[in-house]
Amino acid sequence: MNAVVNQLAKVRKKIVEAALSAGREPSSVRLLAVSKTRAADELLTTYQEGQKDFGENYLQEALDKQELLRDCEITWHFIGPIQSNKTRSIAENFDWVHSVDRLKIAKRLSEQRPEEKGPLNICLQVNISNEESKSGASLQELPALVKEVSELPNLHLRGLMAIPAKTSANSHDRRLPFARLRETLEIMKGQGYSVDTLSMGMTEDLEVAISEGATWVRVGRAIFGKRD
Ligand SMILES: *Cc1c(COP(=O)(O)O)cnc(C)c1O
Repeated sequence: MNAVVNQLAKVRKKIVEAALSAGREPSSVRLLAVSKTRAADELLTTYQEGQKDFGENYLQEALDKQELLRDCEITWHFIGPIQSNKTRSIAENFDWVHSVDRLKIAKRLSEQRPEEKGPLNICLQVNISNEESKSGASLQELPALVKEVSELPNLHLRGLMAIPAKTSANSHDRRLPFARLRETLEIMKGQGYSVDTLSMGMTEDLEVAISEGATWVRVGRAIFGKRD
């Protein structure tokens, strides 16, 4: 069997097991295949195994693959840092954006979203570990951002996304950022926002993320192998 097919099956099994051991319905956790740096035919291999959602970080690379895979029914997710001069193409060519972290970007995406495509699904990226270098809104900035973004007409605010700082810490400390993101989403729900999405967990930490409520896990290397 093709290595990628085999690895995809393993990741799927891991997700189901992590969901069940957290007392969750396995179908409540969805797999986003992170395909940055991967060739279109590698995406196609997983597509033929039923993988429909792909996450890309680099716009031009993603557009090239979208062109090659135009006959596939793929849901495209943008998950990388966003420069303002890229928002139009992102708004036109993606179904989800997980990495919105400031109002300016959200406004542009809303203005530039083609009407016939319906609202663009977005998550607000939160700098959950409060790292200087990391992108993402701080927890302090979040309430104002949530309010303003939720009022933009061509965006559908679905929830929150985070990339916790890498840590060698024990499992308790690894859990904390995910728990904090889950609690933040709960607070938003309590305020009346109809949000349903926690985009968190990658190759190294998808199980703990699932146990804290992840609804999208974004997995690259565990499916496609090491990146160069
Ligand atoms: C690359 C990337 C991933 C996937 O990371 P892996 O460790 O390969 O699973 C997930 N989310 C974002 C935002 C990424 O840039």
